[in-house]
Amino acid sequence: MNCCDQPGLMTVEQALERLLAAAQPITDIETVALMSALGRVLAADQLSTVDVPPADNSAMDGFALRFADCNADAETTLPISQRIPAGVVPESLQLGSAARIFTGAEVPPGADTVVMQEQCKWDDGAVTINAGIVAGTNIRPRGQDIEKGAIVLQQGRRLTPQDLGLLASVGIAKLPVYRRLRVAVLCTGDELVEPGETLIPGHIYNSNRYMLLGLLQALGFDCVDIGIVADDPEATEQALLKAAAEADCILSSGGVSVGEEDHVKACVDKLGSLDLWRVAIKPGKPLAYGHVRGVPFIGLPGNPVSVFVTFAIAARPYLLKTQGASECSPLTIPVVAGFSRPNSAKRQEYLRARLVPDDQGRQRAELAGSQSSGVLSSVCRGDGLVIHKLGEAIAEGDQVLFLPFPDLLY
Ligand code: AMP
Ligand code: MG
Repeated sequence: MNCCDQPGLMTVEQALERLLAAAQPITDIETVALMSALGRVLAADQLSTVDVPPADNSAMDGFALRFADCNADAETTLPISQRIPAGVVPESLQLGSAARIFTGAEVPPGADTVVMQEQCKWDDGAVTINAGIVAGTNIRPRGQDIEKGAIVLQQGRRLTPQDLGLLASVGIAKLPVYRRLRVAVLCTGDELVEPGETLIPGHIYNSNRYMLLGLLQALGFDCVDIGIVADDPEATEQALLKAAAEADCILSSGGVSVGEEDHVKACVDKLGSLDLWRVAIKPGKPLAYGHVRGVPFIGLPGNPVSVFVTFAIAARPYLLKTQGASECSPLTIPVVAGFSRPNSAKRQEYLRARLVPDDQGRQRAELAGSQSSGVLSSVCRGDGLVIHKLGEAIAEGDQVLFLPFPDLLY
Protein backbone atom coordinates (compact mmCIF):
# COMPACT_ATOMS: atom_id res chain seq x y z
CA MET A 1 0.00 0.00 0.00
CA ASN A 2 1.35 3.45 -0.75
CA CYS A 3 0.16 7.00 -0.96
CA CYS A 4 1.55 7.82 -4.39
CA ASP A 5 -1.45 9.96 -5.23
CA GLN A 6 -0.41 12.30 -2.40
CA PRO A 7 3.36 12.53 -2.49
CA GLY A 8 4.82 13.36 0.90
CA LEU A 9 2.14 11.54 2.92
CA MET A 10 3.46 8.64 4.91
CA THR A 11 1.29 5.86 6.27
CA VAL A 12 0.27 5.74 9.93
CA GLU A 13 2.50 2.69 10.41
CA GLN A 14 5.51 4.46 8.88
CA ALA A 15 4.90 7.58 10.96
CA LEU A 16 4.54 5.54 14.16
CA GLU A 17 7.70 3.61 13.41
CA ARG A 18 9.63 6.83 12.91
CA LEU A 19 8.17 8.48 15.99
CA LEU A 20 8.89 5.51 18.24
CA ALA A 21 12.40 5.11 16.85
CA ALA A 22 13.04 8.77 17.68
CA ALA A 23 11.59 8.65 21.22
CA GLN A 24 14.36 8.82 23.85
CA PRO A 25 13.24 7.35 27.19
CA ILE A 26 14.05 9.57 30.15
CA THR A 27 16.61 8.24 32.60
CA ASP A 28 16.03 10.32 35.76
CA ILE A 29 14.91 8.04 38.57
CA GLU A 30 13.21 8.84 41.85
CA THR A 31 12.13 6.64 44.73
CA VAL A 32 8.47 6.70 45.68
CA ALA A 33 6.39 5.06 48.36
CA LEU A 34 4.24 2.17 47.12
CA MET A 35 1.14 4.19 48.03
CA SER A 36 2.16 6.90 45.52
CA ALA A 37 3.27 4.60 42.72
CA LEU A 38 0.02 4.16 40.76
CA GLY A 39 0.59 4.87 37.05
CA ARG A 40 4.34 5.43 37.49
CA VAL A 41 6.83 3.54 35.33
CA LEU A 42 9.18 1.12 37.09
CA ALA A 43 12.85 1.96 36.65
CA ALA A 44 14.16 -1.47 37.73
CA ASP A 45 12.97 -5.07 37.87
CA GLN A 46 11.36 -5.89 41.21
CA LEU A 47 12.35 -9.18 42.83
CA SER A 48 10.60 -11.02 45.62
CA THR A 49 12.57 -11.57 48.81
CA VAL A 50 9.95 -14.00 50.12
CA ASP A 51 7.80 -16.92 49.05
CA VAL A 52 4.13 -16.01 48.64
CA PRO A 53 2.45 -17.51 50.53
CA PRO A 54 5.33 -17.86 52.98
CA ALA A 55 4.07 -21.26 54.24
CA ASP A 56 1.50 -23.90 53.29
CA ASN A 57 -1.86 -22.52 54.42
CA SER A 58 -5.48 -23.50 54.45
CA ALA A 59 -7.79 -22.47 51.61
CA MET A 60 -10.88 -23.22 53.75
CA ASP A 61 -12.37 -23.06 57.19
CA GLY A 62 -12.28 -26.71 58.30
CA PHE A 63 -9.99 -29.38 59.74
CA ALA A 64 -6.33 -30.19 58.98
CA LEU A 65 -5.33 -33.83 59.27
CA ARG A 66 -3.21 -36.65 57.94
CA PHE A 67 -4.97 -38.43 55.09
CA ALA A 68 -3.53 -41.75 56.33
CA ASP A 69 -5.52 -41.34 59.58
CA CYS A 70 -8.84 -41.33 57.65
CA ASN A 71 -11.02 -43.81 55.88
CA ALA A 72 -11.96 -42.34 52.52
CA ASP A 73 -14.89 -44.73 52.07
CA ALA A 74 -16.63 -44.17 55.40
CA GLU A 75 -16.99 -41.57 58.16
CA THR A 76 -13.89 -40.96 60.28
CA THR A 77 -13.94 -39.54 63.82
CA LEU A 78 -10.77 -37.91 65.17
CA PRO A 79 -10.04 -35.99 68.36
CA ILE A 80 -9.41 -32.24 67.91
CA SER A 81 -5.88 -31.57 69.17
CA GLN A 82 -5.39 -27.84 68.46
CA ARG A 83 -7.09 -24.73 67.10
CA ILE A 84 -5.23 -22.63 64.45
CA PRO A 85 -6.68 -19.25 63.53
CA ALA A 86 -4.90 -17.11 60.87
CA GLY A 87 -1.83 -15.37 62.31
CA VAL A 88 -0.88 -18.18 64.71
CA VAL A 89 2.15 -20.49 64.39
CA PRO A 90 0.80 -24.06 64.68
CA GLU A 91 2.29 -26.97 66.61
CA SER A 92 3.05 -30.24 64.81
CA LEU A 93 -0.10 -32.29 64.33
CA GLN A 94 -0.49 -35.06 66.90
CA LEU A 95 -0.77 -38.45 65.20
CA GLY A 96 -4.34 -39.61 64.78
CA SER A 97 -5.89 -36.21 65.44
CA ALA A 98 -7.35 -33.25 63.54
CA ALA A 99 -6.64 -29.53 64.00
CA ARG A 100 -9.43 -26.97 63.76
CA ILE A 101 -8.15 -24.52 61.11
CA PHE A 102 -9.35 -21.32 59.43
CA THR A 103 -8.77 -19.84 55.96
CA GLY A 104 -5.26 -18.45 55.60
CA ALA A 105 -3.93 -20.15 58.74
CA GLU A 106 -0.70 -22.14 58.42
CA VAL A 107 -1.16 -25.87 58.02
CA PRO A 108 0.49 -27.68 60.96
CA PRO A 109 3.57 -29.81 60.21
CA GLY A 110 2.43 -33.40 59.74
CA ALA A 111 -0.96 -32.53 58.20
CA ASP A 112 -1.33 -33.10 54.46
CA THR A 113 -5.04 -32.46 53.86
CA VAL A 114 -7.69 -29.92 54.86
CA VAL A 115 -11.36 -30.95 54.92
CA MET A 116 -13.81 -28.09 54.55
CA GLN A 117 -16.13 -27.66 57.54
CA GLU A 118 -19.21 -28.30 55.37
CA GLN A 119 -18.03 -31.97 55.23
CA CYS A 120 -17.71 -32.25 59.04
CA LYS A 121 -19.76 -32.47 62.25
CA TRP A 122 -17.90 -31.52 65.40
CA ASP A 123 -18.12 -30.59 69.07
CA ASP A 124 -15.45 -29.37 71.49
CA GLY A 125 -13.58 -32.65 71.58
CA ALA A 126 -13.92 -34.46 68.26
CA VAL A 127 -14.76 -34.13 64.60
CA THR A 128 -16.55 -36.61 62.35
CA ILE A 129 -15.62 -36.32 58.69
CA ASN A 130 -17.87 -37.50 55.87
CA ALA A 131 -16.76 -40.28 53.55
CA GLY A 132 -15.13 -39.11 50.30
CA ILE A 133 -12.11 -37.27 51.68
CA VAL A 134 -9.47 -36.59 48.99
CA ALA A 135 -5.75 -36.51 49.88
CA GLY A 136 -3.94 -33.17 49.68
CA THR A 137 -6.96 -30.92 49.12
CA ASN A 138 -7.55 -27.33 50.23
CA ILE A 139 -3.91 -26.49 50.92
CA ARG A 140 -2.30 -23.51 49.20
CA PRO A 141 1.36 -24.51 49.01
CA ARG A 142 4.20 -22.24 50.03
CA GLY A 143 5.40 -20.19 47.02
CA GLN A 144 2.26 -21.03 45.00
CA ASP A 145 1.88 -17.42 43.83
CA ILE A 146 5.50 -16.21 43.82
CA GLU A 147 8.79 -17.90 44.63
CA LYS A 148 11.54 -16.11 46.50
CA GLY A 149 13.95 -14.50 44.01
CA ALA A 150 11.45 -14.36 41.15
CA ILE A 151 10.98 -11.14 39.17
CA VAL A 152 7.51 -9.94 40.06
CA LEU A 153 7.40 -6.93 37.72
CA GLN A 154 9.82 -5.74 35.09
CA GLN A 155 11.43 -2.41 34.43
CA GLY A 156 9.24 -0.35 32.10
CA ARG A 157 5.97 -1.53 33.65
CA ARG A 158 3.31 1.15 34.10
CA LEU A 159 1.97 0.30 37.51
CA THR A 160 -1.69 -0.69 37.79
CA PRO A 161 -3.69 -1.08 41.02
CA GLN A 162 -3.22 -4.87 40.83
CA ASP A 163 0.55 -4.35 40.45
CA LEU A 164 0.55 -2.35 43.70
CA GLY A 165 -1.17 -5.30 45.36
CA LEU A 166 1.43 -7.71 43.98
CA LEU A 167 4.33 -5.52 45.13
CA ALA A 168 2.75 -5.25 48.57
CA SER A 169 2.40 -9.05 48.69
CA VAL A 170 6.19 -9.39 48.49
CA GLY A 171 6.77 -6.66 51.06
CA ILE A 172 8.04 -3.86 48.79
CA ALA A 173 7.38 -0.48 50.41
CA LYS A 174 9.39 1.85 48.15
CA LEU A 175 10.40 1.57 44.55
CA PRO A 176 12.40 3.32 41.83
CA VAL A 177 10.33 4.97 39.08
CA TYR A 178 11.15 7.36 36.27
CA ARG A 179 10.60 11.02 36.97
CA ARG A 180 7.28 12.18 35.59
CA LEU A 181 7.57 13.52 32.06
CA ARG A 182 6.76 17.23 31.81
CA VAL A 183 4.67 17.98 28.74
CA ALA A 184 3.93 21.53 27.60
CA VAL A 185 0.67 22.29 25.82
CA LEU A 186 0.01 25.30 23.65
CA CYS A 187 -3.13 26.06 21.67
CA THR A 188 -2.70 28.31 18.65
CA GLY A 189 -5.52 30.35 17.18
CA ASP A 190 -6.64 34.00 17.14
CA GLU A 191 -10.21 32.75 17.26
CA LEU A 192 -9.89 31.09 20.66
CA VAL A 193 -11.42 32.30 23.92
CA GLU A 194 -11.56 30.46 27.23
CA PRO A 195 -14.75 28.99 28.68
CA GLY A 196 -16.10 31.51 31.19
CA GLU A 197 -15.35 34.41 28.86
CA THR A 198 -17.98 36.00 26.61
CA LEU A 199 -18.02 34.47 23.15
CA ILE A 200 -17.40 37.49 20.92
CA PRO A 201 -18.27 37.30 17.20
CA GLY A 202 -15.76 35.39 15.10
CA HIS A 203 -14.51 33.40 18.08
CA ILE A 204 -14.90 29.88 19.45
CA TYR A 205 -14.18 28.35 22.81
CA ASN A 206 -10.84 26.64 23.30
CA SER A 207 -11.68 22.95 23.61
CA ASN A 208 -8.26 21.50 22.86
CA ARG A 209 -6.61 22.92 25.95
CA TYR A 210 -8.97 21.09 28.31
CA MET A 211 -9.01 17.87 26.34
CA LEU A 212 -5.23 17.72 25.91
CA LEU A 213 -4.47 18.55 29.54
CA GLY A 214 -7.02 15.90 30.53
CA LEU A 215 -5.46 13.30 28.24
CA LEU A 216 -2.01 14.05 29.65
CA GLN A 217 -3.16 14.00 33.27
CA ALA A 218 -4.92 10.68 32.72
CA LEU A 219 -1.55 9.24 31.63
CA GLY A 220 0.21 10.60 34.69
CA PHE A 221 2.34 13.29 33.05
CA ASP A 222 3.10 16.67 34.58
CA CYS A 223 1.61 19.41 32.42
CA VAL A 224 2.95 22.86 31.60
CA ASP A 225 -0.03 24.86 30.39
CA ILE A 226 1.25 27.53 27.99
CA GLY A 227 -2.30 28.64 27.07
CA ILE A 228 -3.53 30.33 23.90
CA VAL A 229 -0.97 31.51 21.36
CA ALA A 230 -1.82 34.14 18.76
CA ASP A 231 -1.48 33.35 15.06
CA ASP A 232 1.69 35.33 14.53
CA PRO A 233 5.28 34.20 14.12
CA GLU A 234 6.62 36.25 17.03
CA ALA A 235 4.08 34.96 19.55
CA THR A 236 4.46 31.40 18.29
CA GLU A 237 8.24 31.58 18.61
CA GLN A 238 8.05 32.95 22.14
CA ALA A 239 5.57 30.28 23.21
CA LEU A 240 7.66 27.47 21.72
CA LEU A 241 10.82 28.76 23.43
CA LYS A 242 9.04 28.99 26.78
CA ALA A 243 7.69 25.46 26.32
CA ALA A 244 11.15 24.14 25.39
CA ALA A 245 12.67 25.75 28.48
CA GLU A 246 10.10 24.28 30.86
CA ALA A 247 9.22 20.84 29.53
CA ASP A 248 10.58 17.52 28.24
CA CYS A 249 8.15 17.44 25.30
CA ILE A 250 5.93 20.01 23.59
CA LEU A 251 2.45 19.48 22.19
CA SER A 252 0.68 22.13 20.17
CA SER A 253 -2.72 22.31 18.54
CA GLY A 254 -3.54 24.09 15.30
CA GLY A 255 -1.37 26.12 12.97
CA VAL A 256 0.34 23.15 11.31
CA SER A 257 -1.71 23.14 8.13
CA VAL A 258 -0.96 24.88 4.85
CA GLY A 259 -2.65 28.29 5.28
CA GLU A 260 -0.68 31.51 5.67
CA GLU A 261 -2.05 31.82 9.23
CA ASP A 262 -0.34 28.54 10.14
CA HIS A 263 2.95 29.59 11.73
CA VAL A 264 3.88 26.62 13.86
CA LYS A 265 5.78 24.60 11.26
CA ALA A 266 7.91 27.51 10.12
CA CYS A 267 8.77 28.45 13.72
CA VAL A 268 9.73 24.88 14.62
CA ASP A 269 11.92 24.76 11.55
CA LYS A 270 13.56 28.03 12.54
CA LEU A 271 14.13 27.10 16.19
CA GLY A 272 15.15 23.50 15.58
CA SER A 273 14.00 21.00 13.01
CA LEU A 274 10.83 19.70 11.47
CA ASP A 275 11.42 15.97 11.04
CA LEU A 276 8.03 14.71 9.93
CA TRP A 277 4.92 16.36 8.54
CA ARG A 278 1.67 15.06 7.06
CA VAL A 279 0.46 11.54 7.62
CA ALA A 280 -2.14 9.51 5.73
CA ILE A 281 -4.52 9.61 8.69
CA LYS A 282 -8.10 10.86 8.85
CA PRO A 283 -8.80 12.92 10.77
CA GLY A 284 -5.44 14.57 11.42
CA LYS A 285 -3.40 14.75 8.23
CA PRO A 286 -1.20 17.77 9.15
CA LEU A 287 0.40 15.95 12.13
CA ALA A 288 3.96 17.21 12.61
CA TYR A 289 7.00 16.11 14.61
CA GLY A 290 10.27 17.87 15.24
CA HIS A 291 12.48 19.50 17.84
CA VAL A 292 12.58 22.98 19.35
CA ARG A 293 15.99 23.75 20.84
CA GLY A 294 16.48 19.99 21.13
CA VAL A 295 13.16 19.38 22.89
CA PRO A 296 10.80 16.98 21.07
CA PHE A 297 7.77 18.65 19.57
CA ILE A 298 4.52 17.14 18.31
CA GLY A 299 2.28 19.46 16.34
CA LEU A 300 -1.31 18.24 16.41
CA PRO A 301 -3.91 19.66 14.02
CA GLY A 302 -6.49 22.19 15.21
CA ASN A 303 -9.79 20.39 14.90
CA PRO A 304 -10.65 18.91 18.28
CA VAL A 305 -11.46 15.47 16.83
CA SER A 306 -8.16 15.48 14.92
CA VAL A 307 -6.41 16.39 18.16
CA PHE A 308 -8.09 13.52 19.96
CA VAL A 309 -7.31 10.93 17.28
CA THR A 310 -3.73 11.97 16.58
CA PHE A 311 -3.01 12.20 20.30
CA ALA A 312 -4.37 8.70 20.89
CA ILE A 313 -2.73 7.09 17.85
CA ALA A 314 0.61 8.91 17.66
CA ALA A 315 1.38 11.19 20.61
CA ARG A 316 0.33 8.76 23.35
CA PRO A 317 2.70 5.93 22.36
CA TYR A 318 5.50 8.44 21.74
CA LEU A 319 5.06 10.04 25.17
CA LEU A 320 4.72 6.69 26.95
CA LYS A 321 7.92 5.43 25.38
CA THR A 322 9.64 8.69 26.36
CA GLN A 323 8.34 8.15 29.89
CA GLY A 324 10.17 4.79 29.93
CA ALA A 325 7.16 2.51 29.47
CA SER A 326 7.93 -0.73 27.63
CA GLU A 327 4.36 -1.32 26.46
CA CYS A 328 2.79 1.56 24.60
CA SER A 329 0.67 0.12 21.80
CA PRO A 330 -3.06 0.03 22.48
CA LEU A 331 -5.21 -3.08 22.60
CA THR A 332 -7.03 -3.83 19.33
CA ILE A 333 -10.00 -6.15 19.35
CA PRO A 334 -11.76 -7.68 16.34
CA VAL A 335 -15.46 -6.79 16.13
CA VAL A 336 -18.17 -6.99 13.48
CA ALA A 337 -18.83 -3.85 11.42
CA GLY A 338 -22.43 -2.67 11.72
CA PHE A 339 -21.98 -0.26 8.79
CA SER A 340 -20.47 0.02 5.32
CA ARG A 341 -17.89 2.50 4.06
CA PRO A 342 -16.39 2.95 0.60
CA ASN A 343 -12.68 2.39 -0.06
CA SER A 344 -10.53 4.76 2.03
CA ALA A 345 -8.19 5.36 -0.87
CA LYS A 346 -6.02 8.13 0.50
CA ARG A 347 -5.88 7.98 4.27
CA GLN A 348 -6.39 5.45 7.04
CA GLU A 349 -9.51 6.50 8.92
CA TYR A 350 -10.28 6.25 12.60
CA LEU A 351 -14.05 6.07 13.02
CA ARG A 352 -15.87 6.93 16.21
CA ALA A 353 -17.97 3.93 17.11
CA ARG A 354 -20.14 2.38 19.78
CA LEU A 355 -20.19 -1.32 20.60
CA VAL A 356 -23.59 -2.97 20.57
CA PRO A 357 -24.02 -6.72 21.08
CA ASP A 358 -25.75 -8.39 18.11
CA ASP A 359 -28.36 -11.17 18.40
CA GLN A 360 -25.60 -13.80 18.51
CA GLY A 361 -23.90 -12.02 21.42
CA ARG A 362 -21.02 -10.73 19.27
CA GLN A 363 -19.78 -7.17 19.61
CA ARG A 364 -20.93 -5.07 16.68
CA ALA A 365 -19.48 -1.61 16.03
CA GLU A 366 -21.99 1.07 15.06
CA LEU A 367 -20.90 4.54 13.97
CA ALA A 368 -21.38 7.02 16.83
CA GLY A 369 -22.86 9.77 14.69
CA SER A 370 -21.15 12.20 12.32
CA GLN A 371 -17.55 11.42 11.39
CA SER A 372 -16.77 15.03 10.52
CA SER A 373 -13.56 16.25 12.14
CA GLY A 374 -15.50 19.22 13.52
CA VAL A 375 -17.92 17.03 15.51
CA LEU A 376 -16.52 16.34 18.97
CA SER A 377 -19.84 15.15 20.37
CA SER A 378 -19.54 11.86 18.46
CA VAL A 379 -16.22 11.20 20.22
CA CYS A 380 -18.08 11.51 23.51
CA ARG A 381 -20.83 9.17 22.29
CA GLY A 382 -18.31 6.54 21.18
CA ASP A 383 -16.77 3.61 23.05
CA GLY A 384 -13.69 3.66 20.86
CA LEU A 385 -12.29 3.91 17.34
CA VAL A 386 -12.67 1.51 14.42
CA ILE A 387 -9.66 1.39 12.11
CA HIS A 388 -10.73 1.79 8.50
CA LYS A 389 -7.57 0.56 6.83
CA LEU A 390 -5.96 2.52 4.04
CA GLY A 391 -7.11 1.30 0.63
CA GLU A 392 -9.88 -0.98 1.91
CA ALA A 393 -13.65 -0.82 1.89
CA ILE A 394 -15.79 -1.97 4.81
CA ALA A 395 -18.95 -3.99 4.16
CA GLU A 396 -21.49 -4.52 6.92
CA GLY A 397 -20.65 -7.81 8.67
CA ASP A 398 -16.89 -7.56 7.95
CA GLN A 399 -14.47 -8.03 10.79
CA VAL A 400 -12.79 -4.74 11.72
CA LEU A 401 -10.32 -3.73 14.42
CA PHE A 402 -11.60 -1.71 17.35
CA LEU A 403 -9.55 0.38 19.79
CA PRO A 404 -11.49 0.73 23.06
CA PHE A 405 -11.21 4.18 24.65
CA PRO A 406 -10.32 2.89 28.14
CA ASP A 407 -7.17 1.38 26.68
CA LEU A 408 -6.43 4.28 24.34
CA LEU A 409 -6.71 6.98 26.94
CA TYR A 410 -4.99 5.56 30.02
P1 AMP B 1 -6.01 25.14 12.26
O1 AMP B 1 -5.29 23.86 12.05
O2 AMP B 1 -5.31 26.06 13.18
O3 AMP B 1 -6.39 25.76 10.97
O4 AMP B 1 -7.39 24.75 12.99
C1 AMP B 1 -8.31 23.89 12.34
C2 AMP B 1 -9.70 24.06 12.95
O5 AMP B 1 -9.66 23.73 14.31
C3 AMP B 1 -10.22 25.48 12.89
O6 AMP B 1 -11.60 25.42 12.60
C4 AMP B 1 -9.98 26.01 14.28
O7 AMP B 1 -10.87 27.04 14.63
C5 AMP B 1 -10.18 24.78 15.12
N1 AMP B 1 -9.42 24.87 16.35
C6 AMP B 1 -8.10 25.15 16.42
N2 AMP B 1 -7.71 25.17 17.70
C7 AMP B 1 -8.80 24.92 18.45
C8 AMP B 1 -9.02 24.82 19.85
N3 AMP B 1 -8.02 24.99 20.73
N4 AMP B 1 -10.26 24.54 20.29
C9 AMP B 1 -11.26 24.37 19.39
N5 AMP B 1 -11.11 24.44 18.07
C10 AMP B 1 -9.89 24.72 17.59
MG1 MG C 1 -5.46 28.07 13.42
